[in-house]
Amino acid sequence: MPEYDYDMVVIGSGPAGQRAAIQAAKLDKRVALVERKAVIGGMCINTGTIPSKTLREAVLHLSGYRERGVYGASYTVKQNITMDDLLFRADHVIRHEIDVTRHQLMRNRVEMLAAEGAFVGPHTLRITYVDGRGQRDVSAAYVVIATGTTATRDPHTPFDGQRIFISDDILQLERLPRTLAVIGAGVIGVEYASIFAALGVRVTLVDKRSRLLPFVDAEIIEALAYHLRQDRVTLRLSEEVSGLEPFRDEKGERVRIHLSSGKQIVTEMALYSIGRTGATDPLNVPAAGLPSDERGRIKVNEHYQTAVPHIYAVGDVIGFPSLASTSMEQGRLAACHAFGVEAKSVPELFPYGIYTIPEISTVGRNEEELTNLGVPYEVGKAHYREIARGQIIGDSTGLLKLIFHLDTRQLLGVHIIGEDATELVHIGQAVLAFGGQVDYFVQTVFNYPTLAECYKTAAFDGINRLGW
Ligand SMILES: Cc1cc2nc3c(=O)[nH]c(=O)nc-3n(C[C@H](O)[C@H](O)[C@H](O)COP(=O)(O)OP(=O)(O)OC[C@H]3O[C@@H](n4cnc5c(N)ncnc54)[C@H](O)[C@@H]3O)c2cc1C
Repeated sequence: MPEYDYDMVVIGSGPAGQRAAIQAAKLDKRVALVERKAVIGGMCINTGTIPSKTLREAVLHLSGYRERGVYGASYTVKQNITMDDLLFRADHVIRHEIDVTRHQLMRNRVEMLAAEGAFVGPHTLRITYVDGRGQRDVSAAYVVIATGTTATRDPHTPFDGQRIFISDDILQLERLPRTLAVIGAGVIGVEYASIFAALGVRVTLVDKRSRLLPFVDAEIIEALAYHLRQDRVTLRLSEEVSGLEPFRDEKGERVRIHLSSGKQIVTEMALYSIGRTGATDPLNVPAAGLPSDERGRIKVNEHYQTAVPHIYAVGDVIGFPSLASTSMEQGRLAACHAFGVEAKSVPELFPYGIYTIPEISTVGRNEEELTNLGVPYEVGKAHYREIARGQIIGDSTGLLKLIFHLDTRQLLGVHIIGEDATELVHIGQAVLAFGGQVDYFVQTVFNYPTLAECYKTAAFDGINRLGW
């Protein structure tokens, strides 16, 4: 066995890289974590998940949005909310998360190298220090690529980070607009559209697809579209953007967006959110004998091994589902596999958390999928307004929907829109994982008054529909 500098080198300090590095270190391996940004944490902590979720929370709090069901539409905690108000909370959480992560890596004796890594051979990386200290080569028995993605930018669009910006730029915005166009109605686009709309910004959401978030249950998406329209969001679906043109007139600096259908949208700011590309460009993967596809993604097998077995790839760089939650699990599984440790996991049963306002969460199959698969099913629903907790918190529009097998009554899917959906879904996820039946919810006592009671009400509803 040749002698390497490390047992494992991990490239990228986002959730996927962190978990791979910590898992390997917990197995007493010599581990280095290479990160090219001045701060650790990846897109997740610095520009993506954590900032967007914290901004959302700040908006919900300051706008009084959650309380309007009780106190009326004019209720607000603070009038004239500014970007500074929102950043105050985001800065606090980001700083804390970076500190906790750094401490965790240090405690586990992961060596952190502040450098950009690029392959010069299958076991060797050339690292270029970010502080200008130069370069050095490091070798490892195993390498984990956890480099994430970069936002896809159209080369013809004049991005300036203020009038025309991507989600990575949001924390740098100097002010809030009165009007905003969001181009691309993927998860990130729809989340930000609803967050800005809750602030009172007039939002136009454009997408070339005819439906929002096609992977989510159609009934849940209908409810989301209703809420967006209530918050004065204009949906421009089945529309393609042909160009963006910044201009200035007596009303100030604005952007004119041209659609292929001939329509135009005039807006103060435009958030461009059409997807992300794997961050493999400077990594020089061919030197390791690895191909990447045209979107910079790296192919892996079920153990997250690439075509070169001692090189693993995890997180967003391998594509679907591109979530922080699944990235962490992939990192852990890759490190366990590399060092021959058996790790049990059911990563295919992951929940989706979509932090729109209201939030959505789903796990398991939806109605369209089951219909296409020819699986006979029944549905049970509970509206938050039927539950005492829904009335207390003022969410009368939330909906929890269970799908179960018509013959075996086995739970097949859970789909929720409303307050705490992303927490509530885990009850259903556990029942799915253990192959439980819808009857479990009927036979179980839930705390009262809680939103979790929706499970019981939905189960009764579903069983009643069976007519037995
Ligand atoms: C706006 C937004 C909201 C999101 N919300 C959620 C959410 O609510 N829930 C959820 O689960 N997911 C969410 N995501 C997705 C989540 O952020 C990603 O799935 C997750 O960050 C991927 O983790 P990763 O470790 O693969 O990559 P990243 O977090 O992107 O980290 C990759 C790291 O690798 C570094 N790197 C790249 N190349 C090199 C190199 N050559 N050398 C050294 N370092 C390198 C980068 O600098 C970066 O720090 C959101 C994403 C965005 C953009």
